[in-house]
Amino acid sequence: MPGLTDAHVHLMSDDVAKLYMGMLKLDLPTATSTPEVMLPYLANGVTQVFNLQTTPGGLAQQREIAAGKVPGPTIVTAAMIDGDPLSWPVGMTRVARTPEEGRAEVRKAAADGYQLIKPYGQLTLETFTAILDEARKLNLPVVGHIPGRGQDTAKFLLPGLGMVAHAEEFAQRTSNPDPSLIPRFIELARASGTGLITTLTLNDRLLEMVRDPASLKARPELATLHPSVRKIWLEHNPYVSRATPGYIAFLERITAFNRQLVKAFADTGIPILTGTDSIVPGVVPGFALQDELSALVAAGLTNQQALPAATRAPCAWLKADCGAIAPGMCADLLLLDGDPLADIANARRIDTLLLGGKPITRTELDCRMNALKNKSR
Ligand SMILES: [Zn+2]
Repeated sequence: MPGLTDAHVHLMSDDVAKLYMGMLKLDLPTATSTPEVMLPYLANGVTQVFNLQTTPGGLAQQREIAAGKVPGPTIVTAAMIDGDPLSWPVGMTRVARTPEEGRAEVRKAAADGYQLIKPYGQLTLETFTAILDEARKLNLPVVGHIPGRGQDTAKFLLPGLGMVAHAEEFAQRTSNPDPSLIPRFIELARASGTGLITTLTLNDRLLEMVRDPASLKARPELATLHPSVRKIWLEHNPYVSRATPGYIAFLERITAFNRQLVKAFADTGIPILTGTDSIVPGVVPGFALQDELSALVAAGLTNQQALPAATRAPCAWLKADCGAIAPGMCADLLLLDGDPLADIANARRIDTLLLGGKPITRTELDCRMNALKNKSR
């Protein structure tokens, strides 16, 4: 089958790690290694990622991989633009307080070589609209949040917003997730030509973690994380520290809403792409994309609906030559030991990964993953 796409990730790099430490007021090691950041994606069959908060360090990783210096997934880079007050530190995001600043930031991002624009939640309607317009002029696809929570969704779900970055964006349009709004969201998404990055796994993991913090430590794939990231998840986890019964009940309503939304979007032909939001606490790079495929099937999608969301659909949305097995397509392929159309878990049974036509066997992947786990102890 074609290699898989995770259309919503946050890749670690030295500059990202430093920014996280500053935000969390922690002093942990921040040196990262690009081959080690990329390996868990490859070992899980992920051959393309959308890095939705790309920094200069992330642009450098993209270049290293594209030049063939480091094996890794094809990286598609997004520049995040937020309003004031910023939700993330400068460096991870750009700020646009006015429509003029929004347009200028889109032009700067294009000049810096970013491929996608990611508008964020604090933007005003006027600035958000200007960003969509400028991105359209420069031919940059837009994947982002829906700003204006609590306001009329119709004002913000506009042509030019190509993809909404998470299912929970729709859940949080109202203070209490309201499934009766789903038919309206379908109507609006269809009118604006907007698709959805699914991220069911994100809320599943958050819910599991706040209900039972010990469940996180028990997940064996945590052994593949950067030690500083693992320490943050296990010892300084902001979600666990706010795990009140009210927050747990809220997350329960979000996960139920998300499953209904994604199933309804898939059934009515709204484009859906698989994405995970790794490296949010609990969402382990690479492994989470396989969990996302399983979560889509658990939400009621057929395997025939779920698999294109990870293969054909993201490549078609990018207009990239991938996501199918055909002449002229890039040879990022998975040789599996079972049919994923028969059982979605067979997508995990990777015998050989072909990366740009070069085979990496399961034995080789396991060997590299074991070395990573030993080093990350
Ligand atoms: Zn994200």
